[in-house]
Order: sequence, then structure tokens, then C-alpha cells
Amino acid sequence: MRTAIIGGGIAGLAAAYELEKACAAGADVEYTLFESRDRLGGSLSSEIVDGTVLERGPDSFLTEKPAGVELCRELGLGDQLTPSNDAERKTYILVKNRMVALPDGLMFLVPTKLVPTALTPLFSIKTKIKMGLELLHPPRPTGLPDESVAALVSRHFGAEAVDRLADPLLSGIYGGDAGQLSARTVLPKLVEMESEYGSLTRGMLAAHQKMAAKAREAAHNKGNGGGTGSGAAAGAPRPARTIFTTLKGGMQQLVDAIVARLKPGSVRMGTAVTGLVKTAAGWVVEAGGTRESYDGVIVCSQAWAASMLLSGVDQTLSDGLAGIPYSSSITLNLVYDEKKLPALPDGFGFLVPASEGRAMLACTFVHRKFLGRTAPGKAVLRAFLGGMKNEALLSEPDAVLVETARREFKEILGITAEPEHVQVSRWRRAMAQYAVGHQERVKHIQERVAELPGLKLAGNAYDGIGIPDCIRLGRKAAKELVASQQVSEAASQPVG
Ligand SMILES: Cc1cc2nc3c(=O)[nH]c(=O)nc-3n(C[C@H](O)[C@H](O)[C@H](O)COP(=O)(O)OP(=O)(O)OC[C@H]3O[C@@H](n4cnc5c(N)ncnc54)[C@H](O)[C@@H]3O)c2cc1C
Repeated sequence: MRTAIIGGGIAGLAAAYELEKACAAGADVEYTLFESRDRLGGSLSSEIVDGTVLERGPDSFLTEKPAGVELCRELGLGDQLTPSNDAERKTYILVKNRMVALPDGLMFLVPTKLVPTALTPLFSIKTKIKMGLELLHPPRPTGLPDESVAALVSRHFGAEAVDRLADPLLSGIYGGDAGQLSARTVLPKLVEMESEYGSLTRGMLAAHQKMAAKAREAAHNKGNGGGTGSGAAAGAPRPARTIFTTLKGGMQQLVDAIVARLKPGSVRMGTAVTGLVKTAAGWVVEAGGTRESYDGVIVCSQAWAASMLLSGVDQTLSDGLAGIPYSSSITLNLVYDEKKLPALPDGFGFLVPASEGRAMLACTFVHRKFLGRTAPGKAVLRAFLGGMKNEALLSEPDAVLVETARREFKEILGITAEPEHVQVSRWRRAMAQYAVGHQERVKHIQERVAELPGLKLAGNAYDGIGIPDCIRLGRKAAKELVASQQVSEAASQPVG
């Protein structure tokens, strides 16, 4: 089976790795990975400058989603996995240019502890009263159409909670806008809780109690010898899983480790696919002035790029893909001599609500979030600028972006020192936005894809924006293609 993979981001690389594994296991598989840029990894890109890891794109992935850690272990990177420094995890929201820590007991945008919520300067009295009355919120009937995250959060906790909590927290993940993001896709647990309990606070507390009861039961069963069987192991505390995991030498290590497993001739960098044609026998891929035939195609480009490629194949599918919006962002890494900085607030960094009127959306204190990746005596501040509400910034020259970040660092943190090194990265239309109606949109896309044998889609546009989801979807697409080929080969064998 000849397969073309379009796009060498993490989804396309994961698909290629899975096909390579299938070849090694004896499957009759050949693949070519096409990447339009002259480097692989898509949004994953890091470099090491004087012993300090600088991430241009993602700096880590969620530990609880297993596909990331699993792939790293499979690739022999187990000893490179680095947990986030959760002992120092604390995030601030900038309110009227003051750092306000997220109140204790905040779970997934939902306040669950009375005293910290009552005392926090994050919210006005009016919002706090609304948060208290939220306990009486009636259940929302099921079957109503999807709505935005902003609509859901503001119904329960008021507009200020959207501005100071939902919008900054979600723009850190999607680079997007709570007014556009789909509540059903982005906050499915809260949507379920609302229909069951009405109040999200009561729903969250009930979920928490259920989890605690389960944990107690598991501990009890282990204590009674129902677990691993070893009394010592049952009694030993399990190391707590940290929220984020990264790689000692940067996320680029994951890209390099996958590429090292692929057959060298199977990767074509600097080769954009310009056309896709469906034929009776399979697919024709046009790239670099040539046309080649394949049995299957895994499209791992951004959805807007997939839409262009598939417009001649199925216009409805192409329109569906074009309907997935994207946001752009800018990241800046500023490396400082730590001694020259004023004392920074404890924690991982801060988020900036749109109402603050700044170019900066967020800032990470990189040297605190992951230990051992910054040269001794250095501090790295990573700023995110732009986002959906400020796309015009992308066209500003690097010097203006650095100047903007430095001016805002001075106003917010009192930093006047010259950075020793700066790195600017622009990510144009890189982050899919799961806008209201996303699940329906993806369902229609998948229905059309199912009508086109040999076609698979993977990447951040469909069922998870983070690295583990992209890995899971890339590997799944490759496995399904190999399995469907094996089924059709078996069907074509003469009986007896
Ligand atoms: C600044 C930033 C920070 C992030 N932080 C995190 C984080 O901390 N943790 C996390 O889990 N996730 C994070 N993400 C999200 C995550 O990195 C991405 O969702 C994920 O890497 C997307 O992978 P992908 O393979 O789907 O797409 P991409 O990485 O966008 O790759 C798609 C590739 O397809 C190529 N392509 C497009 N059209 C064609 C064509 N016609 N022919 C050939 N090639 C083509 C493109 O050049 C590109 O390389 C972040 C993203 C950004 C931008």
C-alpha cells in the first residue's frame, strides 16, 4: 500500500511513525511524507542557546493524556521526560496592572471554596454575589443548541468572570476568544454538570466527592491485598503526576526522535502538495511539479490547507474544512541575567485579560515552570502577543514586537534590564478554534471523509488541540488505513 502523508507537524510525523512500525512488522506499506516548509515539526520548534532551551511553539504537553508520554517512551526518550515544577505552580491574572493570584478552590473555571472566593480581589462584590447565588441555578434542559463558552460562564458567574477568568485561561490554550469557542467542545464536563445539577459549583463539588470516594475505595482495596499483592507496594505512596511534561532538551527532541526512525527517502521537505485527485484506483498527489499515485492519503495539514487541496474532490467536504476558524499568535523569549531583574512574583507567570488593553496575552516564567532547562543564573520570560483580537501585530517587525514586550514588562513587572537574547516567532493561522457548532461541523466532515476510501484526516482541527491529541489522531489514522488495506487484500484473495 502506497500512502502519502501531507503535513510534517506532530500529527503527520506520528502517522509516519505508525506506518514505519507497520512496515517493520511486515505489512506491505510504503509512505511519503510531504512538508511544504524546509523543516519538520510544524508548531514544535525549539533551540538551545548557551545552555538554555527556548521553545518557539509548545513548551510541554498535558501529562494526563497518555499519547504524549507513551510515544516519548516508545522512542527511547523516557529519561528525557521532565515534569513541570508544580510545587511552584501559581498563576496570576493581571487586574488593573496588579497581579492577582487565582483563588484557592477554583476548579476548571468554577469557584468551589467560599472564603477564598469571597476574599479574592479578582472579582467585584457584584460578581461574588452572583457566584454565591449560582448555587441555586436551575438545570438547563438537554437538547438545546451549542453556545459559546462566554454565554455559559456569564449565565452562571457574570460577565466579569468571562473577562477575568474564562477568556484569559482559554486564550492560553486556544489563542482564541471565549465569545466564539464552543462550550460543548471546550467545556463538555461543565455542560453535563449544568444539565444534571443546574449549579456548576454544586456539580463540581459532587464530582470531587465522587472522585475522593473512588480513591478511598481503591486505597482500601489495596490495603486488603486486592491491589498489586505486595503489601510494601500497596503502602508506598505513588508519585504525584504533574500537570505538564516536557523534554529536557526541548520539544524538538520529540520531532528529531521520530524523524530518526523514518526511512530517509520517505520524507520530502520543502515540497508543498498543490493538488489532490481522486481516481478509480486511489489518489493522485501533485507536488513539486510531479504527479504520483497512492492508495491512501492522510491529510495532516491545517484544515484551511486541507480545504484547498480537497476542493476538487468534494466541495462540501472542502467547505466544511474551510469553516474551521484559526487563530494566530506571536511568542517571544527574552533571556535575562537573573541578577538584573527585580523580584518576580512566585509561580509560573500571568495571564492578561483583554480589558487590560495590552498587546500581551500571557507571560510564562520559563525558568520556574521547568527546572534544569535554563542555564544557571539566567531567567527566561516568554510572552504571548496577538491572538484573535489583535492579528494586526503579526505584520509588525521583530524590533517593534520586542520593544512592545519590553515596555509591557517594565509597566507590569518593573523590568528595565536589557535582555541578553531575544527570539521572536510568528504562528500564522496555526491554532484551530473550536467555535460554536464544532462537533456538528466535524461530524459532517467525517461523514464526507467516510465516503472517500483511502482518505484520512488528522491534526489539531478536529478532536483535541494539544500535542497528545494530535499524536493520537495521527497514529489512529495510519492504523485505520493499514487495517482497511488488509481487509480489502483479504477480501480479494481467492476463497479456498
Ligand atoms: C505558540 C503555540 C504554543 C502552543 N503550546 C502548546 C502547549 O504548550 N502544549 C500543547 O499540547 N499544545 C500546544 N500548542 C498546540 C500544538 O502545538 C498544536 O496544536 C500541534 O502541534 C498541531 O500539530 P499538527 O500536526 O496538527 O499541525 P501543524 O503543527 O500546524 O502542522 C501542519 C503542517 O502541515 C504543513 N502543510 C500545510 N499545508 C501543506 C501542504 N499543502 N503540503 C505540505 N505540507 C503542508 C505545514 O507546513 C505544517 O508543518 C501550541 C501551539 C502554538 C502555535
